[in-house]
Amino acid sequence: MKSIGLFGGSFDPIHTGHLLVAQSAIEELKLDRLFLIPAARSPFKLDLQPSSAENRLAMLRLALVGRTNCEVDDVEIQRGGTSFTIDTVRYFNQRFPEAKLYYLIGADNVAGLTKWRSADELSKLAEFVVIPRPGEAHVPIPPPFQGRHLGGFPFGVSASQIRERAKSGLPLEPLVPPPVAEFVRNNRLYT
Ligand code: ATP
Repeated sequence: MKSIGLFGGSFDPIHTGHLLVAQSAIEELKLDRLFLIPAARSPFKLDLQPSSAENRLAMLRLALVGRTNCEVDDVEIQRGGTSFTIDTVRYFNQRFPEAKLYYLIGADNVAGLTKWRSADELSKLAEFVVIPRPGEAHVPIPPPFQGRHLGGFPFGVSASQIRERAKSGLPLEPLVPPPVAEFVRNNRLYT
């Protein structure tokens, strides 16, 4: 049976913290493939207008050049509207009916999992994997969800911090991969 990881987020922009999560998930969960899935609109960030889907996708693709087991999937962008995890997990379940699905989530989202849309069905379709983040407490996974915590390579950078640095004209490398930093500069993002 194949093991497939699903890693959703705004990725505005993708940064080294995300890449370290991806690498540790591939290694610790022995994933065959990991999909990074940018949200059209995160249900947790409805008050924020993200950068265009086109720019966020472009930066993800630049960050993943040459990777074979880690890829971008634009299913949520294509679907549009608010991006609910259940719709995405159903899609991957239909696409890979034989695979075991792992869904990665930040520790800050674990306590609210039971309130996510179609939580019962969601808990049956995927195992949830909690990503470590410096400063976040160890939160138990609430039933009926099943899952585990990643060891990871905790690295305390966030996309908001990158946007702030870009606004202040501070260097973005090595907090984002150099081609992503160049894309931000050339397109004057976050200024
Ligand atoms: P923002 O600062 O805009 O909220 P972010 O970097 O925290 O952005 P997303 O781009 O939405 O968040 O990240 C997608 C997922 O990656 C989320 O589950 C988030 O918790 C997780 N994540 C982001 N940065 C890190 C990090 N440095 N370490 C571990 N997990 C992270």
